[in-house]
Amino acid sequence: MSRFLHVVSVPEAVRVVIQTAPAPVAEMVPVERSAGRVLAAPVVSDCDIPGFDRSVVDGFAVLSQDTTGASDAVPALLRSMGRVAMGTGDGKILVRAGECAYLPTGGILPKGADAVVMVEYTEEAGDTILIKKPAAHGENVLLRDEDFKSGETVFSPGRWITPQDTGVLAACGCAAVPVAKKPVVGIISTGNELVPVTALPSPGQVRDANASMLAAWLSEYGCIPRLYGIVKDEQEAFETVIERALPECDLVLLSGGSSKDDRDMTARVIAGKGEVLLHGIAIAPGKPTIIGRIAEKPVIGLPGHPASAFVVLIAIVRPLLDTMLGLQKPLLRMLRGTLAENIPSQRGREEYIRVRVENGVATPVFGKSGLLNTLVRSDGLICIPAGFEGLEKGSEVEVILW
Ligand code: AMP
Ligand code: MG
Repeated sequence: MSRFLHVVSVPEAVRVVIQTAPAPVAEMVPVERSAGRVLAAPVVSDCDIPGFDRSVVDGFAVLSQDTTGASDAVPALLRSMGRVAMGTGDGKILVRAGECAYLPTGGILPKGADAVVMVEYTEEAGDTILIKKPAAHGENVLLRDEDFKSGETVFSPGRWITPQDTGVLAACGCAAVPVAKKPVVGIISTGNELVPVTALPSPGQVRDANASMLAAWLSEYGCIPRLYGIVKDEQEAFETVIERALPECDLVLLSGGSSKDDRDMTARVIAGKGEVLLHGIAIAPGKPTIIGRIAEKPVIGLPGHPASAFVVLIAIVRPLLDTMLGLQKPLLRMLRGTLAENIPSQRGREEYIRVRVENGVATPVFGKSGLLNTLVRSDGLICIPAGFEGLEKGSEVEVILW
């Protein structure tokens, strides 16, 4: 095996990784638990929303023509025909010329009326109501099916369901929502130097930071992380843990051991059990990344440095998950900013720079590779595309927020 990586561009790596994606599998979940899932089929409304003309304010239903010219000084005097009850469509109240009826917000507009005057602009004097402001035709009225029509496609597949979406799904009568099954993602940390979080590292040892970080990010991205602990840089240990993880997971991530050192097992073990599709990506940080496949399942070797692993997670694993979930739009929070200083970059690789963002100004947070503190002192990443020798101070950048 060559000691050098044969790097490919990020778009090429994304093309390769996407091809390893297992097809999304749909399942039904109750609407109240559907937020944070990806919609797997279109949702149509089973009724008109609203199903009747309704008031958007507390007030008096009127014929708009009766209120023409009404003012504090010269109010229109209308006869009250009663109060509209909520939740019934019995339609007993009829409003004719010279008449009005009280109705609360959301109440059904009585027959004959075509507008509602807010209660604030009215005064009751027994059965007579003083209307002090004119109402135009349709004022303060939400028409039947103005929101959604029966049979209308309200949501398309591939949408990340937000909490507010669940309210609309419920209104559309979608009690059980078809969503993509959450991919189970195995996480394996590798390295003789790694110790668990609970241990105090001795000289030469480091705590496993990646497993927690990867698991947390994956949970937020709609996956089920499954932790397989730490394995030593030994071929047998790798093989055993991969054999255990593969049947239980849809995707397996290994961090560490993805380079070309003799102790770097990941590529060797993937090649032995399946195939290495590529080893090395023109990305910084994160060059020593492996994309492989075993038994039709993607197996990705991430670099060990937490910051590098995180960049690869966002740039390479994220598009894979988008495909596995059927997600139409990546779940990245972006913010525009202006660059505070020049950033040089090596042409030919896509470089991710950590930045702090304050008042729309993005300031690079530089630090030696391997530092953890840059991850917490920054707000996100900016990407310098492969063909660029850098970005100039004052240029507009898109920050991928953490
Ligand atoms: P490797 O990719 O195995 O060459 O590791 C590169 C660097 O990342 C080494 O300094 C490792 O100690 C460190 N590293 C590897 N895995 C982890 C991990 N799970 N948590 C924190 N640091 C790690
Ligand atoms: Mg290692």
